[in-house]
Amino acid sequence: MTSIKINGVEKRFGELAALSDINLEIEKGEFFTLLGPSGCGKTTLLRTIAGFYRQDKGDIYLGDELINDVPAYRRNTGMVFQNYAVFPHMTVFENVAYGLKVRKLPQAEIDKRVAASLKNVHLTGYEARTPDKLSGGQQQRVGLARAMAIEPRVLLFDEPLSNLDAKLRVEMRDEIRSVQKALGITAVYVTHDQEEALVISDRIAVVNFGRIQQVGVPWEIYKNPVNLFVATFVGKINTMEVSLGESRAGGMRMAKNGSVDFLVPEAGTEDLSKAVLAFRPEDVVEVDEGAQVAATLSGTLKIASFLGTVASLEMDVQGTTIVIERHRPRRSDIPDIGQKVEFSVPPEACLLFDAATGARLGRGKA
Ligand code: ATP
Repeated sequence: MTSIKINGVEKRFGELAALSDINLEIEKGEFFTLLGPSGCGKTTLLRTIAGFYRQDKGDIYLGDELINDVPAYRRNTGMVFQNYAVFPHMTVFENVAYGLKVRKLPQAEIDKRVAASLKNVHLTGYEARTPDKLSGGQQQRVGLARAMAIEPRVLLFDEPLSNLDAKLRVEMRDEIRSVQKALGITAVYVTHDQEEALVISDRIAVVNFGRIQQVGVPWEIYKNPVNLFVATFVGKINTMEVSLGESRAGGMRMAKNGSVDFLVPEAGTEDLSKAVLAFRPEDVVEVDEGAQVAATLSGTLKIASFLGTVASLEMDVQGTTIVIERHRPRRSDIPDIGQKVEFSVPPEACLLFDAATGARLGRGKA
């Protein structure tokens, strides 16, 4: 069942097209994330769903109801903000009860809902505290409880974790996800943090320049990006300019970068002098003479970072910076700076993009 439907939405601020041709269907109970860099329009889209902005074009439905002309306070959406937005002069109880009082619910119902919301976010017993006696994470929990208390049709999150320290961010992220799933409520979540998006979401819409670039489950977005923007924004990826050569037997094709030849899976029949070849650091393998590889490269180690479960090696490969990862590294997997490092890139790790448009060439199944 569809919870939110957005058809052809456009929003301008004067000359600036903050949102262009936005089309989305978000399912009931789904955790849906808008992911993109600063200024890409994700907050504008969230605020348009909430009714704080009116789109210039297009329609928005909540369930079957067209809500274009429904004011924000009657849309019954719960919003959780980045800066907590808890009222400092009110107790935790009063903060969570706020939306219910505005709706003039009977006191017994208010008491019941506040208790249930505080229980959901593990703040039972904190009713009488004021926000200045709460940690940042607890304040954000109050914000979440307040949004949930009104029993909204959808929960809207605007970068709710960006003011918290790294450890708390992970804790709250897991908590938001588990509360949302337990209640089965639809959530739209805005973040610029790609790791957060991959972990928390059922599906992700990657946004850039006010346009949706790709919608998919985290795996699809990471493994099968539709364009160079999505490939580089989500996760780390190495890129190098190549010119595409002739097709070879077995559905392969040559891609040339300087003196390095890559043998890559056929990526359409485009005749491109300029393409971009990309592969992820974790996809490279040790050199094995018997294996079929796209290319074996040799680089000079510039920076080695040991991160416990993984070692990240940054190298210079004929003037191009390439990063590779070695998992569960042994001491011998981390050479000294300036040493030569050889590695192979498997054919299936290679993604090709049109250098002019950024479009993925020959996008197959992940
Ligand atoms: P961030 O992560 O930095 O919050 P964002 O992706 O949420 O970025 P938006 O806040 O949606 O981006 O802004 C999209 C574009 O619209 C930006 O260029 C921004 O400057 C512009 N913009 C946003 N709100 C307004 C406004 N009220 N008036 C004019 N321009 C605005």
